[in-house]
Amino acid sequence: MAILVAGGAGYIGSHVCKMLLQKGFDVVVYDNLVHGYRCFAQWGDFVQGDIGDQAQLDSVFSNFKIDVVMHFCAFIEVAESVIEPEKYYKNNVQNTITLLEAMRKHGINKFIFSSTAAVYGMPERTPIEEEDRKLPINPYGKSKLMIEEILDDYSSAYGFRSIRFRYFNAAGADPEREIGEAHVPETHLIPLLLDAAIGRRKDIKVFGTDYETQDGTCVRDYIHVNDLADAHIRGVDYLLDGGNTNYFNLGSGSGFTVREMIQTAKKITTKDFAVVETDRRPGDPPYLIACSDKAQKKLDWKLQHSLEDIIITAWNWHQTMAGRKLV
Ligand code: UDP
Repeated sequence: MAILVAGGAGYIGSHVCKMLLQKGFDVVVYDNLVHGYRCFAQWGDFVQGDIGDQAQLDSVFSNFKIDVVMHFCAFIEVAESVIEPEKYYKNNVQNTITLLEAMRKHGINKFIFSSTAAVYGMPERTPIEEEDRKLPINPYGKSKLMIEEILDDYSSAYGFRSIRFRYFNAAGADPEREIGEAHVPETHLIPLLLDAAIGRRKDIKVFGTDYETQDGTCVRDYIHVNDLADAHIRGVDYLLDGGNTNYFNLGSGSGFTVREMIQTAKKITTKDFAVVETDRRPGDPPYLIACSDKAQKKLDWKLQHSLEDIIITAWNWHQTMAGRKLV
């Protein structure tokens, strides 16, 4: 069975490609390398292309017989999405429709979509279940929810079967240190903490200390990238076995505050660094914790990595990469 992984040269996509190949699937990475790295596309064939490029998609679907498409190539910066919504609606929505159309034209009807906890907006309760209110509060979250809804309509009208995985905070790295998290610019807490630990930044800022949480800082549910990858493999099997269009939260079910994350990072790295308390970052909900019971039941998915594993693997990767430029 062959899987086309759009965005397979990015952080989560590359981990999924590595696991797909280990499980015996054929892989075609399709990536425009705007945010992905050519050196991350080590597993399977590589085609440089954009999901908005109809002709290029036609060519890749003609050259390879693809059974399932996975889609990881979205813009993901919440703050940027507020300032430049067009960029988000164009890539995350319009270009995704172009990809779906190319799939239909070539008779491919199985699709796995990277969605996000941001579709819930400010959650009404925690842990969040899949049926809870979805009211995204920024263009990034809205763009993901739009595609989720489009996929429902494609399912009813065209028999197009899809899975939408709503990731909570993806983190950690390949234990073999071949790939890891490296966004430009970096805005995510764990890589920033490790940058501070390694001395590449002078401090870490805590965005808000007056939330109604146990220590005043935001609580997030961090999930190892290989636990996400494992869910994707199960998702492929589910669709190949005839499973219906569905959606799943993917998180660990445990929450950690920013202060707890700082403490754990200092303990694991054995490095001290300065911590600066600053104002809240606009749009941050106090709690984001997943209930992932549905994925556990329907996909027989089991969490294999703890928060310690997340930070240890991320730290190992960070040290391996220190000072190297990824291309
Ligand atoms: N955060 C922080 N300082 C930073 C980056 C992030 O205090 O330099 C906080 C952020 O406000 C959030 C949590 O850490 O509560 C995780 O943020 P991240 O950007 O990693 O992921 P998000 O939850 O926004 O998807």
